[in-house]
Amino acid sequence: MQPIAAPLLQWFQANKRLLPFRQEPSAYHIWVSEIMLQQTRVAAAIPYYNRFIAALPTPADLAVCEPDALRKLWQGLGYYNRVNNMQKAARIVCEQYGGDLPADYDALRSLPGIGDYTAGAIASTAYNEEVPCVDGNVERVLSRVFDIDTPVKEEPAKSRIRELAQALIPKGEARNFNQGLMELGALVCRKKPECERCPLAGLCESRHLGIQNERPVPGKKAAVTQIEVVCGVLLHEGKVFIQRRNEKDVWGGLWEFPGGCVEPGETPEQAVAREWMEEVGFKVAIVRPLDVIRHNYTTYRITLRCYQLRLEGKPKGCPVPEELAEATACQWIAPQDIEAFPLPAPHRKLADNCSLFDNPASGE
Ligand code: SF4
Repeated sequence: MQPIAAPLLQWFQANKRLLPFRQEPSAYHIWVSEIMLQQTRVAAAIPYYNRFIAALPTPADLAVCEPDALRKLWQGLGYYNRVNNMQKAARIVCEQYGGDLPADYDALRSLPGIGDYTAGAIASTAYNEEVPCVDGNVERVLSRVFDIDTPVKEEPAKSRIRELAQALIPKGEARNFNQGLMELGALVCRKKPECERCPLAGLCESRHLGIQNERPVPGKKAAVTQIEVVCGVLLHEGKVFIQRRNEKDVWGGLWEFPGGCVEPGETPEQAVAREWMEEVGFKVAIVRPLDVIRHNYTTYRITLRCYQLRLEGKPKGCPVPEELAEATACQWIAPQDIEAFPLPAPHRKLADNCSLFDNPASGE
């Protein structure tokens, strides 16, 4: 056995957190939890996980779930293409593997949305297959223990870490070893390492050299793009207009208040009126600004300016658009009913913050 294996396994047995997805670690449970954990921290993921598993306890349930219900379960986690891919994969699992995720790394890796890390996590945790499972925690621990002095996300460090993560797995112990490495990174060998309580302290090269805070070596930072967008809440005869975005677009399949990017030389007010004309064909006027929502995605910083709108000419009845340029469906709904629709995170923030959705009379 490699020198780090025994102390790590012992430490993991004594210190592992009791997480819901560790209680009955089926391949499906691990899959759902791992995809969620790519998007949020453990504490934040637990309520989403419990709700998702209660609603969709098996891959067969996920395979047939209605798209809106699925997106609603995912709302708040973002990156909806991940849950869309999970549903595609669940359908393949039902058609080709009898409803259970395959007990084989390569077969798992071939499913939509399952990459090296997720395939490794499912294969090793659920089936004890001796394959590595390299996430940010494992990169941090191994780059410190073996003093890897080049950026961990780039070659040659990337391959070296994967080779180490494979070679270090003790026979028959993939499940506990892989989880132990990740848990050590999550609880002890964190950004600011707590070496005095680390089971690998005596074996850790970077600690021995006193340079553990200089590992892992970071890569180049990705450029951040600022985006100015607008949206409009059109209130007419007590109803609000929403549309469902095209499947292939960002936020595909979610409902939204129409809007879009502010173009150069345009004011946000001009942009919202133009977008409504282009997307829905309605001539609208601004009633008042409602909110300014700031939202960050990996390399994007979005500023969303939101307005309450009215229809020009105040027509009788709620008009139906002749054509939708950026959407597959639309509805006029009672403002209070917005809660039932899966929305992109910034639009959800708007709906949650704005009194118009609790008390539509406040906007008339
Ligand atoms: Fe991380 Fe410190 Fe343990 Fe090395 S000794 S693995 S730097 S916590």
